[in-house]
Amino acid sequence: MNMIDLIAAKRDGQVLETADIDAFIHALVRDEIPDYQVAAWLMAVYLRGMNRRETIDLTLAMARSGDVLDLSDIIDYTVDKHSSGGVGDKTSLVVLPMVSACGVPLAKMSGRGLGFTGGTIDKLESIHGFRVDLSAEEFRRAVQQHGIVLAGQSLTLAPADGRLYALRDVTATISCLPLIASSIMSKKIAAGANGIVLDVKVGEGAFMKTLEEARALAGLMVEIGVGAGRDVTALLSDMNQPLGAAVGNAIEVAEAVETLHGGGPEDFREHCTVVAGEMLRLAGRGERWVDADEARAAATATLDDGRALAKFRALVEAQGGDVRQVDDPRLLPQARLTETIHAPQDAVVAGIVPTTVARAAYDLGAGRAKKSDAIDLAVGVAVPVKVGERVQRGQEIGRLYANDEASLVASRALLESAFMWSSTPVAPLPLFHGVLRSSDQS
Ligand code: URA
Repeated sequence: MNMIDLIAAKRDGQVLETADIDAFIHALVRDEIPDYQVAAWLMAVYLRGMNRRETIDLTLAMARSGDVLDLSDIIDYTVDKHSSGGVGDKTSLVVLPMVSACGVPLAKMSGRGLGFTGGTIDKLESIHGFRVDLSAEEFRRAVQQHGIVLAGQSLTLAPADGRLYALRDVTATISCLPLIASSIMSKKIAAGANGIVLDVKVGEGAFMKTLEEARALAGLMVEIGVGAGRDVTALLSDMNQPLGAAVGNAIEVAEAVETLHGGGPEDFREHCTVVAGEMLRLAGRGERWVDADEARAAATATLDDGRALAKFRALVEAQGGDVRQVDDPRLLPQARLTETIHAPQDAVVAGIVPTTVARAAYDLGAGRAKKSDAIDLAVGVAVPVKVGERVQRGQEIGRLYANDEASLVASRALLESAFMWSSTPVAPLPLFHGVLRSSDQS
């Protein structure tokens, strides 16, 4: 493979051969291709696209570029989930204990946040002592003993994605359908799951801005998964306002714990029951939880009777975390300063721009620009209202958690600017826009 020929072929809109894609990924993870050539290739793909066969080839080559997790000797059918990234998305913290509490073992590796998007591993580090850096042996032992484990990427799963993603981030080539599909699915395939639930976000706060784009991405990922012998369900979920109220790290853990205690924001709770229900349906393999309502009811029961909370507590304890913070979330890291913002008038909430809310949290120190940046676990923002809600002048519509005055002032202005108002009724936003299941295609 000659890299200049490969770039030129894509630049000119040609279809790449399987062998060339394999050779490219092989050379990429061995650091044999300079960044400028990889960046040029990414831009050519961004502008010219890839057909289905090329995208599947790219995904499989990326999946094979590092370790491939195999838990088949301890779990006969593994389910996993992946969100394409949203604002206030703390779903894994609640959904994984729910599913595990139904007797389905869960072994998940999650990532850290970058830019506006939060990461489950950062959030979990808000719990004092919680170990995310487990060895492969500890990871296996934890799932065998407790039926649940949630760790950072201690194995090198799909390292080609790490290299490509870092370059996409700085070359304006993130929002490209074949590149997103191969990035997500290569990691899921390498993580060894038999059944995969994809939470594909659509809207202003997501990579896919339109339903049409989101459907195309979901369809492609389901097809890739099926091609790799996996069962896949893709939920299309709305990201035109934050999910739940909290956007940050410790405050998102607090909201997740509140939800596990049976409370939490209504939209977030409902979102979790749908995702958990779909995971149960895959795990049931047509024998248990066959019907969507039945699966959802089984998942919901774990929130109502405390089994999901007990599972989360067991997870925290097994990984060295302080369970007192689960029993009493007020013991999680607390910001020094809190400030509330209030509705400027009697009105209906017409919009809450999720990227602006995320930016307000990020500017307080909740996010990082580079992988090596430190984050402040205690800071963030909360938005306790939803689009379509009627509020009264002076009612609390937002709260900021900060550790320094200057960023508090700047983020306050930003958070206020995230709201749009109407004097006439506004329809609430749906939680989901549809679902695609590999089982419907067979
Ligand atoms: N999430 C990923 O893992 N990769 C992408 O490209 C986009 C979202």
